[in-house]
Amino acid sequence: NADTAMYQAKARGRGRHAFFDHHMHYEAARRLALTSDLRAAIEGEQFRVEYQPIVRLGDRRITAFEALVRWRNPASGDVLPGEFIPLAEEVGLVVPIGRFVFFDACRRLAEWRSRAPLLDLRMHVNLSVQEVLEPDLDAFVARNLRRFGLSSDDIVLEITESAVIRSNTLSLGSLARLRATGVHLCIDDFGTGYSSLRYLHQLPFDALKIDRSFVESTDGGLGSAPIVRMLIQLAHSYGIDIVAEGVETARQSSELIALDCEYAQGYHFHRPMSPEAVNALLDASTTA
Ligand code: C2E
Ligand code: CA
Ligand code: CA
Ligand code: CA
Repeated sequence: NADTAMYQAKARGRGRHAFFDHHMHYEAARRLALTSDLRAAIEGEQFRVEYQPIVRLGDRRITAFEALVRWRNPASGDVLPGEFIPLAEEVGLVVPIGRFVFFDACRRLAEWRSRAPLLDLRMHVNLSVQEVLEPDLDAFVARNLRRFGLSSDDIVLEITESAVIRSNTLSLGSLARLRATGVHLCIDDFGTGYSSLRYLHQLPFDALKIDRSFVESTDGGLGSAPIVRMLIQLAHSYGIDIVAEGVETARQSSELIALDCEYAQGYHFHRPMSPEAVNALLDASTTA
C-alpha cells in the first residue's frame, strides 16, 4: 500500500517534471527565436520611434514629448516594447536600440524646437540600467546634443524606480555624473518599487512620474487618490517636478489639477504618435 502510494507520487512527480521540461523548452525556443529576430531588427533598421506629448495640466500646453520605441517584425508583426525591451536587456541588446532611440529623439527635438520656438520643448527618453552603466554614455549624449544644436537642459532621461533600486553604487555614480552634464533625470513608474521613500532623498533626480497603476480606475476618477496626493506632496517637498502618466479621462485630469499636479501624459490628451503627426499637431497649435 505504502509502495503503491510512493509509486503514484513518483509517477506524478515525473509527469510534472516532464511538463516543466516541455514548457521550458518551448519558452527557451521562443526566446531564442525572438533574440535572433532582435539581432536582425537592429541590423535591418526595423525600429521606429513614436512620440507622446506631455502637457501642462493648467493650460494643456505641450511642454515635452516622451520617445517610445516601436518594432515591426516582418514575420510576426508589431512586438510591444513591454515584451522586447526586457528581453533585449537580458541578452545584452538594449544599448544599440537605446542609442537609435536617443539619436532619433534628438533629431526630432531639434526640428520641433525650431518649428515651435515658443513652446520651449523638452524630450524625455527612457534608459535601461545597462545604458546607464555604459562608460561612454555621457560622451554619447554630449556628441548628439552638439550634433543637433541642443542643450543638455532640453533632455530628460527616464529611469524606472525598480532599475534604480536594483542598481548598485556604480550606477548611482553614473547617474550623478550624467546629471552633472546638465541633463534632467526623471524617476519612471514611481511608487511601484519598495524603497522609493527610503532612497528618494539620496538620488539625483529632478522629476518623478506617478505610475499609471495609481491613476487608472474603472470609474473614471483617480484610482488611488490618497497615494497620488502623497506622491505629489512628496515631490513638492523636495522641489522636484511631477508628471502623472496614464491619464485617460477628464475627471482624472481635474482631480489631478485639484491636487496641484503640474504635468500629465495620457490618452485623454494625446496618444503616442508618428513624427509626422507631431509636425501637424505643432503646426496647428502654433497657428491657433
Ligand atoms: P513607460 O516608460 O512607463 O511608458 C508609458 C507607457 O504607457 C507607453 O507604453 C505608453 O504608450 C503607454 N501609455 C501612455 N498613455 C497611456 C494611457 O493613457 N493609458 C494607457 N493604458 N497607456 C498609456 P509602451 O509604448 O507600450 O511602452 C511600454 C514600456 O516599454 C515603457 O513604459 C518603457 O518602460 C518601455 N520602453 C518604451 N520605449 C523604450 C525605449 O526607447 N527604451 C527603453 N529602455 N524602454 C522603453
Ligand atoms: Ca517612461
Ligand atoms: Ca512610466
Ligand atoms: Ca508606467
